[in-house]
Amino acid sequence: MGSHLSDVWFRTTDLEVVSGSGCMVYTADGAQYLDFTAGIAVASTGHSHPRVVDAIREQAGQIMHAQANCYRNPRPEQLATRLAQITPSSIDTFFFTNSGAEATEAAVKLARYATGRPNVIVVQGGFHGRTYLTMAMTTSKVGVRAGYQPLPAGVFATSFPRPYAWRVDETTAVERALADFRLLLGTQSAPSETAAFVMEPVLGEGGYLPAPVAFVQGVANVCAEHGILFVADEVQTGFARTGRMFAVEHSGVEPDIVVMAKGIASGFPIAAIGARADLMARWHRGAHGGTYGANPMGCAAALATIDVILDEQLVIRSAARGRQLFDGLRDLQSRHPGVGDVRGLGLMVAAELTNADGSPGTARTNDILAHCLQAHHLVLMSCGADSNVVRFMPPLVVSEAEIDQALIAFDSALTATSP
Ligand code: PLP
Repeated sequence: MGSHLSDVWFRTTDLEVVSGSGCMVYTADGAQYLDFTAGIAVASTGHSHPRVVDAIREQAGQIMHAQANCYRNPRPEQLATRLAQITPSSIDTFFFTNSGAEATEAAVKLARYATGRPNVIVVQGGFHGRTYLTMAMTTSKVGVRAGYQPLPAGVFATSFPRPYAWRVDETTAVERALADFRLLLGTQSAPSETAAFVMEPVLGEGGYLPAPVAFVQGVANVCAEHGILFVADEVQTGFARTGRMFAVEHSGVEPDIVVMAKGIASGFPIAAIGARADLMARWHRGAHGGTYGANPMGCAAALATIDVILDEQLVIRSAARGRQLFDGLRDLQSRHPGVGDVRGLGLMVAAELTNADGSPGTARTNDILAHCLQAHHLVLMSCGADSNVVRFMPPLVVSEAEIDQALIAFDSALTATSP
């Protein structure tokens, strides 16, 4: 008899993984693999970090579900206090959900509710989730939206600066993208009807493209001028992933709302939005909620995760290991044809593959992933609209030797697939 499990998930591998530790995952037949996906940038503290496991165990023995409408419980309060200490200084009040998409929706709901304005602006190439609203906000790959149209109205996409793709320098790309944003405000979504601008500080699914600092600052200035809320979707970039606790810190911009998930709790499904207290106070009691939001299990996992990030200095380690990986990939780029671009921040690093005629190297990217998996037991994923970007997002506890191991595997894959 066939499987009773839906086949809707695309699969990067068919590995039957039964356990994990640090950067390693283990299959049912006893093989081990070096996981440079971290479960799509989630297992930042490594798989099943003992402190996180202990915290979850202990909480499960106390109470698993102290529903937020029914009871108060110390854990959400403790987590909110902890988050206020580590998020950008503008952010001090928090609301919890279960997934990144729900958190992004919550950010938009808060922005619309608090400003009374209907529209949101996103950037071309952004990814915000799979629910109907977040699909409408997602333009990283058409497959995310195909088969589901029409999507909710009131979402407008403006350009994201792409110096490599546009073959221009960064300053020119930023000027062009900021001009497009102003044009959009003048032609499609009036500032008085625009509640928020929502952007990932590094485009994740869209191709691991860091937003130039001047773009983030330029967007934030235009938003401030018009009373548009600046929302940083830090679902993939947050919690030390980019060598800072939050990626928006690279620009010095203080966002109005931060969206968090993935790395927040080492794999336990919990997500959050943070905002200024005065903004959060405009969200009236009962205007939003959810059965599982702020559940003590997720909060305990997140509290332990944040302790590990701080105690094991994962911000510094992410920056250092990220630099090693980036330099290593740049070196490979200089020795192999077809590596068009190497880019990233911290441990969110990618190599874009191109064919000799400059077209996206999609088939080669698939061959590289397969070679790394089969010949080197290294698990990698691709991203970008054409799936021609190999992304490296290992757990932040990755060692120097493991980064070298991944570089050796990638080197070998580039040789094996050389055009
Ligand atoms: N926002 C960003 C930047 C993401 O990368 C993702 C997931 O990849 C989401 C939102 C959606 O998060 P989730 O899959 O937890 O709903």
